[in-house]
Formats: sequence, C-alpha cells, structure tokens
Amino acid sequence: MKRLCRAANLPEAHILRGLLEQAGIETRVFNEHAQGGVGQLPVQESWPELWVDEQDLVRAAALLDAFQRSAPATGTRTCAACAEDSPSNFQICWNCGAPL
Ligand SMILES: [Zn+2]
Repeated sequence: MKRLCRAANLPEAHILRGLLEQAGIETRVFNEHAQGGVGQLPVQESWPELWVDEQDLVRAAALLDAFQRSAPATGTRTCAACAEDSPSNFQICWNCGAPL
C-alpha cells in the first residue's frame, strides 16, 4: 500500500476514508490510535494517515483533490441516525451511511 495523505485529525481521516470507500477504493487509516500520544511524539507523527493500494493511488488522489475543492470551508450536518457530523456537502453520513 502507499500513503495517500495525512489528515489533520481522526474525524477528517474517517470522512476521507468514507469518501474513498464510496468510490470502491479500499482505504486504511494508520495512526488511528496514536492520538493519545500527542505530547510524547512529534505531532506530525501522530497524525492519522490514509493509505491505499498502489493501483488506486492516482484515482484516490484525484478524488481527494476534487473533494477538497468542492468542500465548503465550514458547515456540517448532524446525522439523525448516529449523531455524527458530516460535511454539509455530503449526501449520506460518513459513519453509518444514513441519508442526511
Ligand atoms: Zn450516521
């Protein structure tokens, strides 16, 4: 697998993984459980990272790029089913897949 990008925080990592998996790209989040280590590790080393299969890397990077361009700077919608926040441009909840 290849590292696609670093996410600023765990919710962002999960949102991006949800986006990629909707497109059929298997995605792994690394450093998912390293958040408690902030303060002991250099901060960047504890940021969650998204990894994808090498053959999906170009497509995943393009999706990510398109997503980051289209994402509004602010705004979330709260899922009625699980109470997680998703970006306001999402049609379905990143966490449980319920329509927003
Ligand atoms: Zn939900």
